[in-house]
This record gives sequence, C-alpha cells and structure tokens, in this order.
Amino acid sequence: MAVYLCHEQPDLYEHDATVLAAAPGRVVLDRSAFHPGGGGQVSDLGWLEHAGGVVPVVGIESIDGTVWHVLGDDVAPTGAVVVRVDADQRSRVAQLHTDSHILNALVFEQFPGTLVTGAQINSDGTGRMDFDLSEVDNDALRALDGGVNAVINQGLDVRSVYVDATEAATTKGLVRSLSVAPPPTPEGRLRIIDIQGIDRQACGGTHLSNTAQSAPFRITKVESKGKRNRRIRFALD
Ligand SMILES: [Zn+2]
Repeated sequence: MAVYLCHEQPDLYEHDATVLAAAPGRVVLDRSAFHPGGGGQVSDLGWLEHAGGVVPVVGIESIDGTVWHVLGDDVAPTGAVVVRVDADQRSRVAQLHTDSHILNALVFEQFPGTLVTGAQINSDGTGRMDFDLSEVDNDALRALDGGVNAVINQGLDVRSVYVDATEAATTKGLVRSLSVAPPPTPEGRLRIIDIQGIDRQACGGTHLSNTAQSAPFRITKVESKGKRNRRIRFALD
C-alpha cells in the first residue's frame, strides 16, 4: 500500500480524476481522495460527477490491489470525472475513530498490557472496540466515557507521523492491534497517529486534527464476548 491521498491531503474533498477502467456500476480512477476503509473502518462515501450526470459512490472494493469505486447504479462512466467525498460521513468516522484511540489509551493505562482484539467504525455514528480483558467489571468499563470526554475537552493535537517499521516493532505499545495497523509503505515506513501526550498508535484510518473537533462520546453498552473478550459499544452524542 502506498500512502493514501487522503493521508497526504486530509482536507481534500473534491478533485478532478480520470477513469482508468469501468464496468457497469464500478470504476477505477487515476487518483482518489476516498479512504478505502480497512482495519475496521468503513470506507468514505460520496459522489462521482461524470459526463452523464452524478452518481453516488457507495463503497470501495480492493480486488488484487486494484481499487474499485462502487457506484449507486449501473452506469459505466469514462473519461474525465469529478470526485466528491461526503464530508459529513468522513467527519463522523474521523470523530469515532479518534475517540476510539482515546478509549484504547485509557483502557491500556488502567489495565496495562490489554490487547485490542477487534474494532469497527460504522457510517451511522456508532462503533465498537473489543478488548482481551477477563477480570474487569463491566461497570468500570462503562464509566470510561467520562475520561474520553475529558480528553476531547482538553483540545489535544492529533498528528500523523511516519516512523521506521522495524523501530515501531520494538517500541512497546505502539502496535497494540495487528488487525488495525496499516502495512508499511514501500519505503518501510509505518504511519503513526500521535494524540499529544495520550497515545501513539500505528493506524491507517482517518482522524481529527484536534480532539476538540469531536462531539461528546458515549459508551452505550459493554458486553462479554466469550470468556476473555469485552465488547465496548459507543456512539457520538
Ligand atoms: Zn486510527
């Protein structure tokens, strides 16, 4: 995986592109600001403006390294197009995703060594994280949203930096979940999301640039999944 355009230009929501390949209901573009999803995060949604009109982009499918934009109807546009990313959807996912890093950091701080066993960020403003946490009371976990909101209110900067992948592998706590860590770039660099003083974590998703950009965060449910796993469900208020 190369570095995504949305990593390099997080504020790019509209741009020109050229269709490289088309089939009914799907296209491959020469460039796209869409985040393809992955690591539990849904892809961006949006629209494609082409010679025949405007068609919604309802998802992204990567097949053998080729990134297909899946369209809302069976058109097969060619030539020059305009790509538009749904900024509201991007923002909702970025808020939930950034908040999930904060939650992860608080769990890791209070229950050292805890591993993330799964994570999912949905387009409807909800998400969940699964932790390997066998001995903890569910009420203690449910109360963590107070701590997440305290960090949101502190207005901490969120930056993305690139570090050497081999260095990252030996830094304790940097890769807490292999399932959400992005693959290194071709140059062997790993993308790290740094929430000022709170958390440093390998991640390929979309995030806020400051925690204060998040709406209030609420834990809606804590469930036990099997003997060891706890599932924390959350939403934006
Ligand atoms: Zn992330």
